[in-house]
Amino acid sequence: MSAPRDHHEPDPKRHHVWVSAVLACVLLGCGVFGSQAAARSIARNNSDHSREALQMSSVEVASTLRLAIKREEDLAVSAAGFLHVNPSPTSVQFVAWADTVQAMARYPELLGWGEIVMVTTAQLPAYLAADAADPSGVASRSFELVPPGDRPLYCLLRVSQSRHPGAARVPAGFDYCAATEGTRLLAARDSGRSSYVVATAGTEKGVAVQVPIYGGGFRPTTVEARRAAFIGWVGLAFDPKVLLDLALRDRPNTAVTLRFHDSISETAFNSGLAPKGSQSVIRDLDNAWTLETFAVVAHKGVLDDRGALSVLLIGVLASVILAALVLVLGTSRATALRLVGERTGELRHQALHDALTGLPNRFLIMDRIDQLLTRNRRNNTIGAALYIDLDDFKNVNDRLGHETGDRLLVAVAARLTSALRDADTIGRMGGDEFVVLIDGSAFKASPELVAERLLDVMRQPFDLDDTSSPLSVNTSIGIAIGDRAAGGDLLRDADVALYQAKAAGKNRYEIFHPEMQTEISRRIELEFDLRSAVDKQQLRLVYQPIYNLDDLSLVAVEALLRWDHPTLGLIEPDEFIPILEQSGQIQEVGRWVLNEACHRMAVWHSKGDTLDISVNVSGRQLDHDHIVDHIREALESSGLDPATLIIEVTETALMRDAAHTAVRLKAVKELGVRIAVDDFGTGYSSLAYLQQFPVDCLKIDRRFTSAITTSPESKALMRTLVQLGRDLGLKTLAEGVETASEMDHLRDEQVNEAQGFLLSRPLEPQVLEEQILLPGRANSVVPLA
Ligand code: C2E
Ligand code: CA
Ligand code: CA
Repeated sequence: MSAPRDHHEPDPKRHHVWVSAVLACVLLGCGVFGSQAAARSIARNNSDHSREALQMSSVEVASTLRLAIKREEDLAVSAAGFLHVNPSPTSVQFVAWADTVQAMARYPELLGWGEIVMVTTAQLPAYLAADAADPSGVASRSFELVPPGDRPLYCLLRVSQSRHPGAARVPAGFDYCAATEGTRLLAARDSGRSSYVVATAGTEKGVAVQVPIYGGGFRPTTVEARRAAFIGWVGLAFDPKVLLDLALRDRPNTAVTLRFHDSISETAFNSGLAPKGSQSVIRDLDNAWTLETFAVVAHKGVLDDRGALSVLLIGVLASVILAALVLVLGTSRATALRLVGERTGELRHQALHDALTGLPNRFLIMDRIDQLLTRNRRNNTIGAALYIDLDDFKNVNDRLGHETGDRLLVAVAARLTSALRDADTIGRMGGDEFVVLIDGSAFKASPELVAERLLDVMRQPFDLDDTSSPLSVNTSIGIAIGDRAAGGDLLRDADVALYQAKAAGKNRYEIFHPEMQTEISRRIELEFDLRSAVDKQQLRLVYQPIYNLDDLSLVAVEALLRWDHPTLGLIEPDEFIPILEQSGQIQEVGRWVLNEACHRMAVWHSKGDTLDISVNVSGRQLDHDHIVDHIREALESSGLDPATLIIEVTETALMRDAAHTAVRLKAVKELGVRIAVDDFGTGYSSLAYLQQFPVDCLKIDRRFTSAITTSPESKALMRTLVQLGRDLGLKTLAEGVETASEMDHLRDEQVNEAQGFLLSRPLEPQVLEEQILLPGRANSVVPLA
């Protein structure tokens, strides 16, 4: 809005013309002189590098022209400013205003311009009435829809100014939206970006630019908002040849071809003459534009060196174009400066922002963290950094392609941003990693609450245009709170916490604490060593006896995994099984466990024992159909009677993917194997829920056993769980029996079986065989201490 106003005062303008004329001469002089010097030195010193220099110079020419093309859009923007203030101008008003900004004088390439508006069928009579009341109105030239016919909406040129009023004109009722460029116009409205198209009127050939304009003076961020705020298009037609001619004035041996390509065709605009033997350089100006520069090469002095000659010519050409541009832009040095400022601002923006999502990139974030720390130190407040990572994003890329992956990232960025307050900073670190910075002085919600909010918004599936069903992704977040020596430290700690969140099962957040660093080092070490643990025979099974509560006879043993680490000693399954699950190695190890346990029990059976063997199967193993094959394989190779094998699946594993798990467990059941629900009572599953699985036994979690003696409520809870088992016709087993009093209570509740340290700890196979199996073959009675 401020730009057009500059031209209302005549005196400064005249002054600016002089300044620009002088500036143009100086530019031209320096340019010519500089190019000559450069060409000479290149010819003298470095003919090898001539091509490089030629390329460089052509970049300069190209960027000069790029600015010239951009200028057309700037003119449209200033018209948009006028239209905001005068929403329904008459043609006379528009032309009067256009004269005050000297559009035709300052833009010699401009053929004509005006405003195109969208008119619905219902609005058409009012539109025509308003137009008829305007003596200069477009419709005064006999209004007739082109093409004729009823359509829901028409895109009509309401006001316009033309350089050659006598020349062939667009008919008054020409409907741009029904013409070939209609789609392009609507796309421009939706995207907010200008549309370019080659336009022909009679013999004149030019380029038409349509710039969408919106109420409020800026471009809304979503398609819906853009449609709602849409006012119309400012359309300009210009003749690129004028620009080229200007650039080549007084340059007899140089020619340029500016090509404009749209999806259908290519149109070339030529200027100058290129004698035989000319060299040419082609440059992209923009998606749709390329510039080819031709110049003749002679064979003397500097002219012997083709590169040097091109540099000279192109350098001179660049100076000419620059000088011409300064003259053309001329009346306002401020305009030129603004353009340069915009370019610089644009480049700066590109360097510090992520191209895909437009969010601050790693560089900018690092800078912002340092600022955050300094600010919080000064204000004595506490800031925080959240490191956010999508769970299993690689799967999206692998399954649906990178394009969909990119769209998802854009959607994620938008959604995360929507869940933050203005005071928070969000950036993309690369890949599927984002960072949120929370300023302590603006802490309204704790970082934990922010993390919860982010996890919450991310739980809604993403509706992307190119996937048939909405896409669900989970997120993990690491949080680091407080001061650090450097910004990088805060980020590293948040990353460590993120790693922990992933390790703890994903789709959650964790807050950094210093011990995490050691935990992580140990975890990484274990993860690495586990890879060879099976091959190096460091894994083994121990067996915990299970007794019948009525007569205390030994009925089964549960196989439990142990890892003898070469330097760290014995490692418990609670620590290493989650690592195996995360790395996927659980498949291989689980298969080994099944084989080992079945073989061991088959040997004991061959010696006369009739015990059952219970084997733990991880939820991850149930993610795949081959769990059924692994069980069958263990049974067949060991020769164990399937009726003596029990598979233990935790309640939470059942609930993970109930439909598939039920199918797989039915297949397992068909092998003749029984199924027990492990850690029962911790997963809150209902009777109806359990009924869909072919379950034989409920192993009631040890927290209920240890609570049973402490309060009547706990006893009632145990009773409910046992009753649930009985209603379903299932056997019940109490885990973790540690005291005789617990045993008594369990008997009162008529629990069928029990397992726990009171009865026996898990035992080495040899110990089990020597101390329990051998002495009491077939019907061992527990040796209660
Ligand atoms: P779980 O399946 O619930 O196994 C019972 C755990 O309780 C065992 O711990 C056992 O030593 C312990 N325990 C038994 N009686 C008592 C008692 O009276 N008091 C207390 N406090 N604890 C008792 P362990 O061997 O450390 O195994 C821990 C978990 O690791 C198992 O819990 C199971 O979920 C998993 N696990 C063990 N072996 C395997 C395996 O081969 N495959 C899979 N997928 N998981 C296994
Ligand atoms: Ca178990
Ligand atoms: Ca258990």
